[in-house]
Amino acid sequence: MNYISTRGTGAPVSAAQAIKQGLASDGGLFVPETLPALSETDISALCKMSYPERAARILSLFLTDYTEEELLNDCHAAYGNSSFVGGTAPLVSTRAPIEIMELWHGPTAAFKDMALQIMPRLLSRALKKTGEERTALILVATSGDTGKAALEGYRDIPQIKMIVFYPVDGVSRVQKLQMATQLGENLKVCAIRGNFDDAQNGVKEIFGNKEIAEKLNEKGYFLSSANSINWGRLAPQIVYYVSAYCDLINSGKRALGEPFNVCVPTGNFGNIFAAYLAKRMGLPIRKMICASNSNNILTDFLSTGVYDRNRHFYLTMSPSMDILISSNLERLLWFVAGPKKTASYMKQLRETGRYAVEPEILAAIRRDFAGYFADEAATAATIREYWEKDGYLSDPHTAVALHAAGQYLAETGDRLPLVVDSTASPYKFANNVYRAVFGCDPSGDLEALDELAARTGVEIPYPLAGLASRTVRFRDVCERTEMPKVVLNFAK
Ligand SMILES: *Cc1c(COP(=O)(O)O)cnc(C)c1O
Repeated sequence: MNYISTRGTGAPVSAAQAIKQGLASDGGLFVPETLPALSETDISALCKMSYPERAARILSLFLTDYTEEELLNDCHAAYGNSSFVGGTAPLVSTRAPIEIMELWHGPTAAFKDMALQIMPRLLSRALKKTGEERTALILVATSGDTGKAALEGYRDIPQIKMIVFYPVDGVSRVQKLQMATQLGENLKVCAIRGNFDDAQNGVKEIFGNKEIAEKLNEKGYFLSSANSINWGRLAPQIVYYVSAYCDLINSGKRALGEPFNVCVPTGNFGNIFAAYLAKRMGLPIRKMICASNSNNILTDFLSTGVYDRNRHFYLTMSPSMDILISSNLERLLWFVAGPKKTASYMKQLRETGRYAVEPEILAAIRRDFAGYFADEAATAATIREYWEKDGYLSDPHTAVALHAAGQYLAETGDRLPLVVDSTASPYKFANNVYRAVFGCDPSGDLEALDELAARTGVEIPYPLAGLASRTVRFRDVCERTEMPKVVLNFAK
C-alpha cells in the first residue's frame, strides 16, 4: 500500500518512506491510497486476540512493507503489561450508555503514549528499510502531552535525535517538570515565548526552509516529525477503536455488526480522525462526536462549514486542546472533498486564516460528525459531577468529552453505546481537578497530586509518582525567531 499527499502532487511513497518523511513534499499530509476493509470475519478474529495482537493485525493492513513478525514484535514491546500497567485501552462503565475508554495507562499517563510507544520502533525500521544513513532529527511542537510522550518514546533510540518545543506558559507545571526531568542523551527540550500555534508554526517553517535542510544534511542529519501529522502516529490510533468494539462484543454489550458511537476530546483532530478511518474501513461507528474546549473552532466549523482561526485564543485547563489549527482536519477534507479543494482550503487558511467548505461538503461531514464544546465552567462542573455521582475522577480533557457526550445524548436521545475517550490521567492535571472537585486550591501544583490522592483515594499512576524529587535537566527558554538556531546548534 502506498501513500499520497492530501494536496494532490508528488509521487506515491511506501509506508516506511511516509513515516520517515513526516510531511509530503508539497506540504500536504500523507494519506493511504486506498483503505483496507475490515469484515465481520476479521472483527470476529480480532475479538479473540490480545491488544498487541490486534494492533499488529490492523497495522499490517496499512504498513504492507513491514512483515507481520516485525509488527508483532514491535506491538508486544510497545503495548505490553510492563508499560501499560493498568491495561492498554480498558473500557470503564459509568452512566449508560457511556463507556469510558482509558487511553492513559502508558508510561507518561496520557493518550499520546498509544501512538508514541510504537512510532519510534516503526521509524527505526523505516530508516533501515529506506537505506537511510543520516541521523533523523525530530522536531516536535507540543502543547504538553505530546512532548513528554515523544521524549519517552524516542529516548536513546539509535540514529534518532529529538528537540521538543513547548509554549512556556501553555503547559501545566507537572507537564513542564515531566519534560524538564526527561532522561536520554539524544534529546533536548526548549520552552518558547508564545502559544502552541507559535511553536507549531516555528517548527513548520523550519521544515519548509531549504537552507536549514542543506546545513543539516552537511552535518549528516535530516528532519523528521513526530507530531500527529505523521502517518506513524495516526495508524496506531485506529487500533483502539476496533479494540473497543471487540471489548463491547466480548462483554455482550454489542452483537457483531451492531453500531456504536464515539466521543473524542479534540485538538489537532488526529484522535477523532483515526475513528473516521476505522469507520471507513467497516467498523460500525455511527456518529463521531467532536468535543472542544473554549477554543471551539471545530464546533463552529461543524455547524457552519466555516473554519476561521481569526478569533481569541484561550488558555484553558485542557491545554492539549488549546489549538486553532487542527492539522489533521486536512486529511478529512481530502477524503470528503478531494485534493484540489483541499489544497485550495489550505491556501486560503495560510493566506487569510479562514476557509469555507461548500454546503454539500459540510452535509457529508455532518453525516458522520457532530460538534459540541465545554467552556471552563462546564468542564469543572463535569469533573465534580462525575466524581460526586459516579465516583469517577476525570481529567479536564476527558471532562470536556463527557460534557459533550451529555449534550449529545440529551439532544438526540440516542441510546447506542457511546465510547468516550479518556485522554489523560486526572493526576496529570491534579491542581485543576482538585479545584473542580473540592472548590478550593491545593497547596501547590505539585502538592496537588498527593492531596488529591489523599482526599479521593484514587491511586496516582506510576509515571507521575515521585516527580518532585527528580533532577531537572532542561531549563532553556527562547524566542520563536531563535528556533532555527537551537536546531542547528543541537545538530553539532
Ligand atoms: C493531544 C491530546 C488531545 C487531543 O488529541 P488530538 O489528536 O490532537 O485531537 C486530547 N487530550 C489530551 C490529554 C491530549 O494529550
